[in-house]
Amino acid sequence: MNDDLRNLIQLQEIDREIVNYRHDIERIEQELKETQSELVDDQQVLEEKHKELMLYKQQRMDLNLDWETAKLELEKLKKMSLQVKTNKEYQDILRDIDHKKNEIDEIVEDILLQDEKIEKLEEDFKELEEELAANKRKIEGLEEHLRNQIKENNDKIKEMDLDKEEIRKKISERVLRQYNRIQTGSKSGGIALVSIQKDGTCCGCHGSLPIQKVVSLKESGTYDICEMCGRMIYFFNESEKDEL
Ligand SMILES: [Zn+2]
Repeated sequence: MNDDLRNLIQLQEIDREIVNYRHDIERIEQELKETQSELVDDQQVLEEKHKELMLYKQQRMDLNLDWETAKLELEKLKKMSLQVKTNKEYQDILRDIDHKKNEIDEIVEDILLQDEKIEKLEEDFKELEEELAANKRKIEGLEEHLRNQIKENNDKIKEMDLDKEEIRKKISERVLRQYNRIQTGSKSGGIALVSIQKDGTCCGCHGSLPIQKVVSLKESGTYDICEMCGRMIYFFNESEKDEL
């Protein structure tokens, strides 16, 4: 196996690991986003409940006002009943008083119902509030855990970048340029160098390689380019495993 190839294989191993760590980071960031949006949804539900509660309380205040007004009107009617002249007028005013009393009874009934609704809503609101607080604590814990994971992955990537630097120094500039170009290309998925499988297919794109190419790479211990996916390909001899 030639030196460039041996070093490229080591470089690719590290790059492959880095790609995995990066994928992992993306997955964790997605998870983080989802947990955060869950919390936002919960908060919205709570805000809706709060608005509903405020509306009910406003209605309760309006009912109180109606009640006060109706009571004043009743007092007025009672006073008027003492001043009427004819029997007809007296009958009329008694009827009005009855109506007003009924109206007051209805308002009081509404007030009681409204108080019940408010009490129930307040209980619901409190329950939701506690749930949200508990969820928040849980998510904060999870967030910290996820952020630590991201940091760990980034630290590992940094470490591996240093290892890569050491290996790169040993590879000729021309080969390194070629490797970098393929690796950063849009189709490579970050993998520039792949081995040839036992059945003569490229490990990167699974296309069948010309047999002469496979044989020649096996004998020369160098690399070539897969014409289908553009990656560097090499034949991996089990006997050379210890060289890596
Ligand atoms: Zn290929």
